[in-house]
Amino acid sequence: MWWVETDYYIFAIYLNDSRLTQPNTKLKPNKIMYDFAVIGGGIVGLSTAMMLGKKFPDASLVIIEKESKVAFHQTGHNSGVIHSGIYYKPGSFKAKFTRAGSQSMVEFCQKHDIPHEVCGKVIVATQEKELPLLDNLYQRGLENGLQVKKIPPEAVKEKEPYVSCLAGIYVPTSGIADYKKVCEKYAEIIEQQGGEIRFNTKVLKINNSNNYKFLETSQGEIKAKFIINCGGLYSDRLAQLDGVNPQAKIVPFRGEYYQLTPEKTLFSQKSHLSRS
Ligand SMILES: Cc1cc2nc3c(=O)[nH]c(=O)nc-3n(C[C@H](O)[C@H](O)[C@H](O)COP(=O)(O)OP(=O)(O)OC[C@H]3O[C@@H](n4cnc5c(N)ncnc54)[C@H](O)[C@@H]3O)c2cc1C
Repeated sequence: MWWVETDYYIFAIYLNDSRLTQPNTKLKPNKIMYDFAVIGGGIVGLSTAMMLGKKFPDASLVIIEKESKVAFHQTGHNSGVIHSGIYYKPGSFKAKFTRAGSQSMVEFCQKHDIPHEVCGKVIVATQEKELPLLDNLYQRGLENGLQVKKIPPEAVKEKEPYVSCLAGIYVPTSGIADYKKVCEKYAEIIEQQGGEIRFNTKVLKINNSNNYKFLETSQGEIKAKFIINCGGLYSDRLAQLDGVNPQAKIVPFRGEYYQLTPEKTLFSQKSHLSRS
């Protein structure tokens, strides 16, 4: 899911930059200078780095991660859902992105033998007032090209016996994946492509000089032609370190979902209920 779009964004911006067509011939072994420095070893940073490595095999690349392993933050603590894109506005970039991404994620997992399951998902209405909303969602699913089905309460019960509802819809393309393993595979591919990953290295300051970025890190200075900020929940602050005012600010808030106890998880090992 991630690399399809990363591919699009990064290369739309940088492909024609002359700095990429001038090989970095002055590089020495154990260099502190790179073509690309990707900040963040979550799924966004790793997938970005993997695609950069594929598109620019001769470019030097480093991932800078403040923790001791990949997927340490959001990526390693999420619910593992491969989203179908049903909620997004039909025809929107986000809707197309999610659909393409869910397919490519499943393909990636199949190719690399990563645990995943396209188990589908049920969305239900438990009150009368939710019925029109569920119907809207169904229409949206159809407009998004998904094979959604309306299913009656008894059919919902066949899939999830502990759910009581008035009506439901079934989205067959939703699934689950082990995103930590996906990231470990990305990291392996990046290293095979010649990229480096520096763990326990926190970016503290970013200075700009002569078209280069000088990253002051907890492990010394790293110089790069381009930096790609994939710092997750810190990406707004990292942008500020680079003198950019991102307008958007990351604001944490509490979300809640319920996980079924093992004895009630009859059909799916990873059922979870959420209310939104
Ligand atoms: C509770 C929860 C459940 C979710 N469930 C799902 C789901 O089921 N399916 C789904 O598709 N998405 C889900 N998401 C969203 C998804 O997990 C995130 O969109 C995705 O993991 C973001 O990846 P990332 O690489 O941008 O961020 P992260 O995984 O947070 O990675 C950012 C990395 O940047 C590093 N970093 C930050 N600052 C610095 C610095 N100064 N120097 C060096 N390194 C730095 C961090 O250490 C971190 O490793 C969920 C999110 C949450 C919070």
